[in-house]
Amino acid sequence: MTAGATEADLPVTTLKGVGPSLKATLERIGIFRTSDLLLHLPTRYQNRSRVTALGRIEAEKECLVRGRVVATKVFFGRRRSLLVTLEDGSGYLGLRFFHFSRRQQAGLQTGTQVQAFGEVRFGPSGLEMIHPEYRAFDSQPPPLEAGLTPIYPTTKGLGQNRLRSLTAQLEKLPWKTAEGTPYTDLLLLHKPPADMTPVEIETVQERLAADELTAYYLIMRGRQLERQRQKTIPLPRSQQLGRQLLNNLGFQLTAAQRRVVREVLEDLETERPMLRLVQGDVGSGKTVVAAFAAVRAAEHATQTGIMAPTEILAEQHYINFSRWLSPLGISVVLLTGSQPSRERREVIEKISNGEALVAVGTHALFQKSVTFSKLALTIIDEQHRFGVHQRMALRNKGVVPHQLVMTATPIPRTLTMALYADMAVSVIDELPSGRRAIDTRVIADGRRNDVVARLGESLDRGGQAYWVCPLIENSEHLDLADAESTAAALAKALPEHRVGLLHGRMRGAEKAEVMQSFSGGELDVLVATTVIEVGVDVPNANLMIIENPERMGLAQLHQLRGRVGRGSAQSSCILLYKSPLGADAKARLQVIRDSQDGFHIAEQDLKLRGGGELLGTRQTGEQGFRLADLGKHAHLIPEAVARGDEMLRSAPESVPALLDAWAPADTGHISV
Ligand code: ADP
Ligand code: MG
Repeated sequence: MTAGATEADLPVTTLKGVGPSLKATLERIGIFRTSDLLLHLPTRYQNRSRVTALGRIEAEKECLVRGRVVATKVFFGRRRSLLVTLEDGSGYLGLRFFHFSRRQQAGLQTGTQVQAFGEVRFGPSGLEMIHPEYRAFDSQPPPLEAGLTPIYPTTKGLGQNRLRSLTAQLEKLPWKTAEGTPYTDLLLLHKPPADMTPVEIETVQERLAADELTAYYLIMRGRQLERQRQKTIPLPRSQQLGRQLLNNLGFQLTAAQRRVVREVLEDLETERPMLRLVQGDVGSGKTVVAAFAAVRAAEHATQTGIMAPTEILAEQHYINFSRWLSPLGISVVLLTGSQPSRERREVIEKISNGEALVAVGTHALFQKSVTFSKLALTIIDEQHRFGVHQRMALRNKGVVPHQLVMTATPIPRTLTMALYADMAVSVIDELPSGRRAIDTRVIADGRRNDVVARLGESLDRGGQAYWVCPLIENSEHLDLADAESTAAALAKALPEHRVGLLHGRMRGAEKAEVMQSFSGGELDVLVATTVIEVGVDVPNANLMIIENPERMGLAQLHQLRGRVGRGSAQSSCILLYKSPLGADAKARLQVIRDSQDGFHIAEQDLKLRGGGELLGTRQTGEQGFRLADLGKHAHLIPEAVARGDEMLRSAPESVPALLDAWAPADTGHISV
């Protein structure tokens, strides 16, 4: 929260009991100020405010009970255990301990009064609590809690009681609890009254999530408005280079590609910097759309910087862009971290003196030594790989460049409304014609030999294949297939075919070499870890085997599978899972088997496990949210957006207060 917004936002050290060591522990979980603590909400609650009669306890519920010990017995079964039976006049309950000391046992003699809290389960002797928290007492029972007991997310060295003693101090601070601010609700969630029901709590959480989503949306809109006030180089059509590119392609653009190219080029014509997101399923042909934009910039003798998340992809873009743009007299260079330093120096020189109009690269393009002389356009490919809203500014001598962002991660429309409210969005919702559906099978690893035989047949017919493994080398802990031993086994089983290996720990140059051999047809099978996930394009590859697909996310599987089905031959994908398969995993693999529509898969994914994976991260915090959970709260987005628009229209003066509550300026949280 910005200074002055409220006097209640203070360094966390102003709270009682926070010394240097606790301060450091709190910082580990992102708590620097009292506002961070206020936003550090409980994940659940316990009810220790009332005693449940033993006659009324129910299995699978947590409760607080009191009773008199009527029997204490040690069992010597497969596991030694102590069973203490309580009675309160209405019924009985067993407290079972697998670890217990003599002293503990002595303290629970028949006749002792005990208060216990725990989850009730069915045990061998009826209802039991296993290892409950308990206290023996003589005459006076321990006091009951006044409200619900919060359980906080925490870290090593920070107990619940310690956290509670800190959050209890929050209510004494002067938060501005006027109507319309979230503070009242936030304080309530730290200390709900004992009679507040789970549904009522959820309602408050939803109200806050909606509030936060509105704030997020307003920040995105604010950025967009700010951007619209900036000026850059307008790039209207000035030559016929685009037409030439079109004629040289050797294929027809799909209607969707034509539409998106038009949308992009129209944006480029004005002096307002473009910020456009192009979404298109794997294989929908985003690269060529980007090429048209680069050509337009080149018509004005201005530069384009293209960023790819991996070296393999950067190499591939370099090859494509050179093939498409060199005939038009546009010079293209490649910059990656693994180039020899002399080569890199030369490339950097060409970028800074303007000789190179198009520079393709990895993160290497961000180095201090790289300065463009007249950058007019940046293109970021597979943006989800860089994080949702990571700022991606290249160093430039001139103005703010136009920006084109591409992603193969289909984002359900509701999410786009809020998460990408600062961008214009284009969707390539059509695949080039002639692509055939990928035949996807789900097969248990017990039939591995059949799968290898099928691979052999497919290679005999002249196809190429990917075999994807989740890990590089044998791990004792996880029984996952590893790429190295799989490659060795396949080479042995298929002696007449050439097997290559590609994994994340190889050096960039090595990776590029293997990839080139595969795309050049010198390798028949490429055994790879998931490094091939993004962007690789080898049309002759028509079979993909994915091991341990049950461990991967749907978005990832969809991306992987998109590496095949790029040529005109029938392609197949085999999901070689480790049995037995849980119900969840089964449902997820079925989604992949039955659909090839990235948007449908993303929506199912959102339903099955929340939006984290889809957005490249599963941590709510990393998506930039304090409380909102896209898996749970996506349905609130349309209303949050409408409320944000309404605020901008009729009460813009109330916007800063809302943003202050959710976007602490000094931690730079949402407002990256
Ligand atoms: P992605 O959208 O996944 O980045 P690419 O741009 O890599 O897809 O395109 C996949 C393949 O399809 C490439 O080989 C590309 O040259 C080819 N391609 C793109 N557009 C068309 C089209 N309209 N017709 C036929 N092939 C196309
Ligand atoms: Mg691509």
